[in-house]
Amino acid sequence: MIYNIFLSDYIQIGNRWYRIKLVPDIYKQEGKSVYGYTNYLAGEIIIEANLQYDHQVEVLIHEIFHVIEDLYSIAEGDETVKQCMAIGWTQVLGNLGIKFEFPEKSNSS
Ligand SMILES: [Zn+2]
Repeated sequence: MIYNIFLSDYIQIGNRWYRIKLVPDIYKQEGKSVYGYTNYLAGEIIIEANLQYDHQVEVLIHEIFHVIEDLYSIAEGDETVKQCMAIGWTQVLGNLGIKFEFPEKSNSS
């Protein structure tokens, strides 16, 4: 069974709201291996729009971990741990049949 979860433009994490934006070619804009990032001042989680679906989910979960660390003033932890957790959660959610429908692609970051 597949459970489609429609993500709205905004996701609440703790007491904050972040806009989820799928933006094409951020990899090129940032000039290195950046598939997503969080803009805390703007309240945005930016995800590369050209990634495959599973990779987009992985990036979203990875960035949510960043926000949780910031939200609770946890010292920024190891990137590898966040990435492993993001991949693991992507697999668990996928195996449960949970499929996210991302908001429409945006044209600017
Ligand atoms: Zn990171």
